[in-house]
Amino acid sequence: MAQDQHTHPETLALHAGWRADPSTGSVAVPIHQTTSFQFQDTGHAARLFALEELGNIYTRIMNPTVDVLEKRIAALEGGAAGLALASGQAASAFTVMNLCAAGDNIVSSTAVYGGTWNLFANTLRPLGIEVRFVDPADPEGFARASDDRTRAWYAETLPNPKLEVFPIAEVAALGRGMGIPLIMDNTAAPVICRPLEHGAAVVMHSTTKWIGGHGSSIGGIVVDGGNFDWAAHADRFPTLNTPDPSYHGAVWTEAAKPLGPIAYILRMRTCLLRDLGAAMSPMNAFLFLQGLETLPLRMERHCANAERVAAHLSGHAAVTQVIHPSVMRGEARRRAEAHLRGGFGGLLGFELKGGAEAGRRFIEALRMFYHVANIGDARSLAIHPATTTHSQLSPDQQLAAGATPGYVRLSIGIEHIDDILADLDQALAAAGE
Ligand SMILES: *Cc1c(COP(=O)(O)O)cnc(C)c1O
Repeated sequence: MAQDQHTHPETLALHAGWRADPSTGSVAVPIHQTTSFQFQDTGHAARLFALEELGNIYTRIMNPTVDVLEKRIAALEGGAAGLALASGQAASAFTVMNLCAAGDNIVSSTAVYGGTWNLFANTLRPLGIEVRFVDPADPEGFARASDDRTRAWYAETLPNPKLEVFPIAEVAALGRGMGIPLIMDNTAAPVICRPLEHGAAVVMHSTTKWIGGHGSSIGGIVVDGGNFDWAAHADRFPTLNTPDPSYHGAVWTEAAKPLGPIAYILRMRTCLLRDLGAAMSPMNAFLFLQGLETLPLRMERHCANAERVAAHLSGHAAVTQVIHPSVMRGEARRRAEAHLRGGFGGLLGFELKGGAEAGRRFIEALRMFYHVANIGDARSLAIHPATTTHSQLSPDQQLAAGATPGYVRLSIGIEHIDDILADLDQALAAAGE
C-alpha cells in the first residue's frame, strides 16, 4: 500500500514517511547517529549543495532519522513538509525569524505560552522585530493591528490557562484576505486539531509535550502547510522573494518550485538552521517517533480522562470553577466544537475556594500526580501557577494571565480514571482542612 493512501491519524502515526530500511530490512526507524554522509561522487555532492537534489550532507541541516519524524508529523498535520528543531522554543523563534527582519512586525494572540511571550516581548523586540499583542477572542483585532510591515499572525490552538480554542478559521480567513499567513502553535491539540484544514499556513509543536508523550526529550517542529502563495504577496515577504546573498542569490519561492510548495520551510532549513544550528538530535527524533506511534491512542485517553475529571470537579464543594472546553458554553464552546475532533484536550484548570493557601496544600497532598512544570506526559501532572510559573508576575499581571491565587493546572494522564479521581479527591480533602 502506498504511504500516501493513508489518511487516518492512527495509521499515519505508524506508517507515514517510512517503510523498512532498504539496506537492512530494519522495520523500526534506525538512529542515524552520524554527523556526515559520504557523497556518491563529486557530481552528487555538487547537486546537493546546489539544491538540485535534496539529500543528506551534514546532520545540522538534515538527518535520515529526523527526516522520518518530519515527514510523519507533516503528514499528520496535512502539510507539505516539516523541519524538526532542538526545542519548541527554537521552533516558535524560527517561524517568525523566517519572515521578519528589523523593522518588521507580527501580530500575536496574548494567550501564548510564557516562553513564547518572553521570546516575543523581550528577545525579538531589541532585534527590531515588533510583536503586537491582541485579544484572541476578537478576530478583527488582528487586522486592526496590522500594517504593510506585518509578516504573520501567531496564536495557540488551545492556550493555557483559559483553554478557549482560538478562532483559527475566522482569523486565518481574515489574514488570507490581507495576504498575511496564520502561524498556529498546536502543541496542546495534536491529532484532535489540524489547523491547516482551518486555513492556517504554518503549524508548530513543542514535541516535548504530547507527541513525545513520555516526558523524556525536548524538541520542536515546524510544518509548512504548502497552502500559502508567498510569491503572490512578494512585497510582504522579502525573505522568500528577493535574492538571498547567503545562497548565491537564490530566490526561495523560485528555488522551491521543482521541490513542491515548500519555499517557507526550505528557507528555514537552508538559512536559519544552517546559521543558528538548533538541530534535533537523531536520538531524540527516534524517541519522538516512538511517542508518535501511540499518540492518537493516547490522545483519546487523555481527552476522555480529562472530560471525566472536569465533570467530577464541577460538582465538588471545594472547587469554584472548572476550566475545560467540555464544560464551556456559548461562543467558547462553539469554537471548541468547530475546531476539535475526538476530544477537548488533556489540559484542565480549576479554582480552589480556599485561594493560594489551599492551592499549596492541594499540591503538597498529591500522591500520584507529579508536581512539575511540564504538560503532555502520559502521567498526570499538576502545578500551582501562582507560586511557580507565574510567581515573578505582579498580582495584577497574574490576574491578567488568568493565574488567580487558587488556580491549579492539571495535565491529565492516561492512568485509570478511578486512580486519577481518587488522588484528586484525597488532595482536595487535604486542601480543605
Ligand atoms: C512547552 C511549550 C512550548 C515550548 O516548547 P519547549 O519544547 O519547552 O521549548 C511552546 N508552546 C507551548 C504551547 C508549549 O506548551
